[in-house]
Amino acid sequence: MSDFQQLSVAATAPGKINLYFAVGDVQANGYHPVASLYSAVSLQERVTVTAAETSGISLSLEIVPGSALAAMEQTGEFDRAAVPLNHKNLAYRAAEAVLEAHGISSPAAGLHLHIEKEVPVAGGMAGGSADAAAALKAVNEFVVKAGWADTELTREQLMALGTRLGADVPFCVIGGLAVGYGVGEELTPITVPEGTRQLPLVMVLNDRGLSTPSVFTELDRARAAGDLPAGGELTVPAELVDELTRGGELDVRRIAELMRNDLQAPALALAPELRQTLAAGDTEDVAAALVSGSGPTVAWLVANDETARSLAQAPGGHRRVFCTTTFSADVN
Ligand code: ATP
Repeated sequence: MSDFQQLSVAATAPGKINLYFAVGDVQANGYHPVASLYSAVSLQERVTVTAAETSGISLSLEIVPGSALAAMEQTGEFDRAAVPLNHKNLAYRAAEAVLEAHGISSPAAGLHLHIEKEVPVAGGMAGGSADAAAALKAVNEFVVKAGWADTELTREQLMALGTRLGADVPFCVIGGLAVGYGVGEELTPITVPEGTRQLPLVMVLNDRGLSTPSVFTELDRARAAGDLPAGGELTVPAELVDELTRGGELDVRRIAELMRNDLQAPALALAPELRQTLAAGDTEDVAAALVSGSGPTVAWLVANDETARSLAQAPGGHRRVFCTTTFSADVN
């Protein structure tokens, strides 16, 4: 048995939240330029690559035991069937892209990708993109360790491959905090000073998902009809970045004032029930309630961990609630 058949390479990548997301008007090519401030959250995905006996790429899925996602599965509020375990899975497509970039057309064995998931599915937190990012890193390392390729692709090359899989994939490759322009893939990582406090977030999931393309389509419709203003200046405010990176304690109220999401209005138009979730966050304890990305998850930014925990455990009302934090930089 050759060595690569014993080989196992794992990589992780975080889910994300957009602390700022300004969307420009749709371009002739159908894309929307954005100004995004991405933050990794403490929930992450892990992909482990091993050699498989059968050729091709196979997948398996594990929901991280003890995670909020596992609890949701137990109560029937999450169905793992929502995650395709075939060529439609972004991790599969990432593995294919890495093999192709290395010029490996017929690998010496099949590849098996084992996904350990804790980021909610279709929650606007880039769970699929994180799987793709983790698979890019793990397969890249695997093919070199297996002796199928001489040199690993660089992080930049992996990010470029990721762009073709989805706008959030390059950010999930680097994690941390980053400003993104273009469709979000032109990234500038931001250094967060040692000791910076992570922002506690309470994420409130919705009973039904929202598809990202439908939210952009609704934004275009509302803008064309004059129901929403046209896309304005596409710049992440320097003050928001300064507030987040000034070190030590953070001014959560000021950060909350500076946050923005242009997809919130179209997400609310498609899922009006989200208004209630936003309104429920209109309390002393919650500095900001904002739709996360294209929704339908709503993120409550709160002052401290105790508040986050007590809000997440509040009986009645929202059942699918969990705590996370910003800036869980995960670069491996
Ligand atoms: P984003 O924030 O990037 O728009 P999301 O977090 O809202 O994405 P995902 O969890 O990535 O949504 O899943 C959206 C859909 O993508 C799923 O319903 C599923 O059909 C498909 N999908 C493909 N690959 C994956 C994956 N590895 N994990 C989860 N869903 C995947």
